[in-house]
Amino acid sequence: HFTNAALFARRQAAVARGVGQSHELFIQKASNAEFWDVEGRRFIDFAGGIAVLNTGHVHPQIIEAVKAQLDLYTHTCFQVVAYEPYVEVCERLNTLAPGAFAKKSLLLTTGAEAVENAIKIARAHTKRPGVIAFTGGYHGRTNLTLGLTGKVAPYKIGFGPFPGEVYHALFPNALHGVSVADALHSVELIFKNDIEPERVAAFIVEPVQGEGGFYVAPAEFISGLKALADRYGILLIADEVQTGAGRTGTWFACEQWPVAPDLITTAKSMAGGFPLSGVVGRADVIDAPAAGGLGGTYAGSPVACAAALAVLKVFEAEQLLARSRAVGQHLVQSLQALATKVPAIGDVRGLGAMVAIELFEESGEGLRPDAALTKRVVTEAAQRGLVLLSCGTYGNVIRILVPLTASDALLDEGLAILADSFAAVR
Ligand code: PMP
Repeated sequence: HFTNAALFARRQAAVARGVGQSHELFIQKASNAEFWDVEGRRFIDFAGGIAVLNTGHVHPQIIEAVKAQLDLYTHTCFQVVAYEPYVEVCERLNTLAPGAFAKKSLLLTTGAEAVENAIKIARAHTKRPGVIAFTGGYHGRTNLTLGLTGKVAPYKIGFGPFPGEVYHALFPNALHGVSVADALHSVELIFKNDIEPERVAAFIVEPVQGEGGFYVAPAEFISGLKALADRYGILLIADEVQTGAGRTGTWFACEQWPVAPDLITTAKSMAGGFPLSGVVGRADVIDAPAAGGLGGTYAGSPVACAAALAVLKVFEAEQLLARSRAVGQHLVQSLQALATKVPAIGDVRGLGAMVAIELFEESGEGLRPDAALTKRVVTEAAQRGLVLLSCGTYGNVIRILVPLTASDALLDEGLAILADSFAAVR
């Protein structure tokens, strides 16, 4: 039998160093919001494979749908011989996306690919090169998406040059001193200093920054961006790779925006653990690239499409959007109660079940982000059987992406381990 340590040593020798690993654990098997490592220890999973497991590990209905698909066909390449499940996923996305206009979609494999394609489409439609992204944003690890990503360490170090005509405006972050007015003003400054608005194709923004620290984009910020977009003919792209598929209490987080985006990227939990992503949005925009301009060998794999359709059924049958809001409320209330006992927890926030705490230390000059404590708590919790993820520009945010299918009892068990971990490292 394997041990985590023996496997980790093999991994260190065989796998590229650049592929990081949050926990020195190797999985044996999983069920819903729990998994067991190769040494037989049980863990509660508050990481959800980074927002992929909103319907939990190996949901029986999703596995059943995938098994049925495996017996029929697994690959044709949609551009060679098409299949109905791809079309049905697009039809469903077109209905789910907000906005009173005709919609179309295309499917891909990863979140980064969805973002790349949204930018390609925006440039083809507007015939403009510029893209404005935001500080602290995360959009992927390919060259264009790294260019869009607004966080240097560890993503961008050593990987330049990045593509041209990508600019970063400030993301509003009241906790760290950036108001909505500051953020919108920084866009105007880009128009003055870097690129005229008539050459900008799109703004790309996360409704809640994921890797950046679970900061929610305020409604006034989105309205302000949309006003600029309308004034200058710029498209608004919502990157919902992390926020989508029900995490925030609605299928897409941008359903809670005051205005609809022109394009939405989606991935992660939409196929419950199988690799699938997509772009959905205004039909006239999506149709700008000529036939043959979009696609990919594995893009919209039939196996992943079968999983995605099963995910949608599970969301309906188990009312997971309502559950997402209930899980969010439960987490926020419990974490607020914990914050009254743990002064280091300086903020509890979220949208739906996309919830985080941010940790600070007292210093001479006031509060400072406490990345060291964050690391100690995450490590301690893992030793106690709870898998957490950190995030944030300052590495001082603990985020919760627990499956929405987790029971209240399991949530409470995980939250109790989190509380014990704070007490243990103090
Ligand atoms: N956009 C956002 C908002 C993300 O959170 C991520 C992944 N964390 C990506 C894009 C990239 O997705 P992938 O890793 O599937 O390429």
